[in-house]
Amino acid sequence: MTTALAPSFLIGARSPKQFPADTGLEVAFAGRSNSGKSSAINAITQRKGLARTSKTPGRTREINFFEVRDDRRLVDLPGYGYAKVSAAVRDEWRGLLEQYFRRRRSLRGLFVTVDIRRGIGDLDRVMLGWAEDAGVPAAALLTKADKLSRSAGLKRRDDIAATAPDGVPLLLFSAPRRLGVDEARAQLAEWLALA
Ligand code: GDP
Repeated sequence: MTTALAPSFLIGARSPKQFPADTGLEVAFAGRSNSGKSSAINAITQRKGLARTSKTPGRTREINFFEVRDDRRLVDLPGYGYAKVSAAVRDEWRGLLEQYFRRRRSLRGLFVTVDIRRGIGDLDRVMLGWAEDAGVPAAALLTKADKLSRSAGLKRRDDIAATAPDGVPLLLFSAPRRLGVDEARAQLAEWLALA
């Protein structure tokens, strides 16, 4: 898959009632606020402005659905872990996400963006756990790998792997350097059966 995916925006859903019809296949992106989720989506789809890179972390509480092709979707889940949001917002976020993972029959894969310097956090584990419960495969994109040297990046990946959930591949990733982008696109294409 070498061409741009040209996804088009479908809807920003604030409740399950607003989710598009649960047919076909979709792949979701989750990640802590500021972990580089929007940058990763934009790099993988080669669309600069698709997912807005966040100026105000933690504000987006919508699940954004994009159509890549007939009945093939990308899903941008709301970022989490932003310290300044209220408990009410956190509960709302959790409820919406949990319902998404519980209900969504068309979900075929989950990418979690993890800042390589922070490693996998508690909320990342919650996401990965929900995906596992739903029988959905997941991969972690270790973002901002350009902030470390190549050898430090590899060492850090091994350290993260030591406590990562089983069966979750860890991919060194950098949006500006386009590191890991082709591999992530290949994984996306496989999950969405685009080949
Ligand atoms: P989001 O909140 O998870 O969607 O994160 P963004 O994609 O908005 O990125 C948060 C900040 O990290 C922005 O300033 C980005 O430019 C920066 N960023 C994202 N990915 C990378 C990366 O791979 N390398 C570097 N150096 N910076 C990145």
